[in-house]
Amino acid sequence: MTAKLSSDFDYIAGNIEKVRAKIEKAAARSGRNPKDITLMAVTKTMPAEAVAAAFDCGVTLFGENRVQELIEKLPLLDMTGRSAHIIGHLQTNKVKYIIDKVDMIQSLDSLHLAKEIDRQAEKTGKTMDVLIEVNIGREESKSGVLQSELFEFVNYVAEFKHINIRGLMAIPPVEADLEKTRPYFAQIRKLFIDIAAKKSDNINMNILSMGMSSDFEIAIEEGSTLVRVGTSIFGKRNYLGGN
Ligand SMILES: *Cc1c(COP(=O)(O)O)cnc(C)c1O
Repeated sequence: MTAKLSSDFDYIAGNIEKVRAKIEKAAARSGRNPKDITLMAVTKTMPAEAVAAAFDCGVTLFGENRVQELIEKLPLLDMTGRSAHIIGHLQTNKVKYIIDKVDMIQSLDSLHLAKEIDRQAEKTGKTMDVLIEVNIGREESKSGVLQSELFEFVNYVAEFKHINIRGLMAIPPVEADLEKTRPYFAQIRKLFIDIAAKKSDNINMNILSMGMSSDFEIAIEEGSTLVRVGTSIFGKRNYLGGN
């Protein structure tokens, strides 16, 4: 059974249109092709019907932070030509539940996790695409690999045969002045380019996942190829339900 389109979610189409217009403008400002920028709908706390409404508007990728939410929504969605990514901190013991359900884990943040992803991917007979999450602002509250440890981390992960490193993901520190996020995005891009220059069978860098509702336009100007947008598509999240 797939989630029905409900008129309760009609507002989503207009929001997606606005986000797309902003993506196009930001791309134009920076001389980029908007087709090189993927829009991910971040659907945490939103029902499957909302995800279906985003799919109906041509969005083909959604991201979830929590394994539980992802595996509850997936059976309700028509995933033909669409895909799901994990974007939140992933506990090692939950890898087995999503290994055959997602096309990418954007939040690889420890060797321990890499080892388990490799193990489960081998069992499933697949190679898992991953992004390495970088804690670019060195914030204790955030997960991710520190910049100072990134190259060593990449070298270790590149040894795993069932992991394919596709790029980097990062969430810069929250700044009241949005322009202050720009140097963080620029720095992530620099790291991305340095790693992409490494030659390895398991490093195929072409995804730079950065930019959320508040800052995706700046992220695009600084080279983002995948923006993760929740609030600007679905409205404010209500966490009272325990999410
Ligand atoms: C929630 C979340 C987003 C989307 O944030 P919005 O501000 O609602 O657009 C993007 N990336 C990650 C990793 C998230 O957890």
